[in-house]
Amino acid sequence: MNLNEIKRYSRQLILPDFGTKEQSRLKKAKVAVTGAGGLGCPVSTYLTLAGVGEIHIFDFDRIEMSNLNRQFLYTPEDVGKPKAEMAAKRLSEINPEIKIEGINEKVTYDNAFELLKGYDAIVDGTDNFAVRYAVNDAAVVNRVPLFHGAALMYEGRAMSIIPGETACFRCVFPEPPPAGMIPTCREAGILGSVVGIVGAIQASEAIRYLAGLEIGLKNQLLIINVDEMRFEKVRVAKRDDCTACGEHFIPKPVEDVCTVLPGSEASGVTEGDE
Ligand SMILES: [Zn+2]
Repeated sequence: MNLNEIKRYSRQLILPDFGTKEQSRLKKAKVAVTGAGGLGCPVSTYLTLAGVGEIHIFDFDRIEMSNLNRQFLYTPEDVGKPKAEMAAKRLSEINPEIKIEGINEKVTYDNAFELLKGYDAIVDGTDNFAVRYAVNDAAVVNRVPLFHGAALMYEGRAMSIIPGETACFRCVFPEPPPAGMIPTCREAGILGSVVGIVGAIQASEAIRYLAGLEIGLKNQLLIINVDEMRFEKVRVAKRDDCTACGEHFIPKPVEDVCTVLPGSEASGVTEGDE
């Protein structure tokens, strides 16, 4: 570690259970962030600040004025520019010690398995079910830990998936809800601070995991409700018949419905916790 890095990370290097060994694990880590939107902005920012050595940000969207109530890496002058590229540019200015790449590509069921190979972790900031299921299946097949998050209106969800060890997203939600059942954030709205909370939780889990520390959202779905400021953890279980992480992998692309939050009928939910 150089002198700049020691100074930059000094407040986390003095944390209990966190030292130069943990910091160098972060430095060696290569992480994919899928989506540079409401969740992708806080996720990639906290990974950048913590010193994750290499971050690849996948997004094919362009910045819109309506993104600016939550996507804090962009300014009004950026409207029309590619998100992945702009996010990478801003984050490289924030921490020049690490490598950040913006990849202007749409993640699909056809390319996810190849695109999301060789990472130490994937943090999902996707805003629709088609990509979310593609990312889950690719993470499970490639055995890359996946830090899931979703948010809509005043609600958020988060869960950490360690392939071979914990339930995956499809164990909990085998099928997406029928089209039209869940509104999109264009229709229902989203509060910027809610995606901020969820993204910060995903990043905290990923950072602790990469540093070699214990994490709290394995086999647990965290449900956040900001209007009553309720946080609850629901225990979830791995399913033997899961098409992604069960005995036999069965490719199962999901239709592209632009929805944000998974349905409430979680089949892998076994019992309440907290
Ligand atoms: Zn599964």
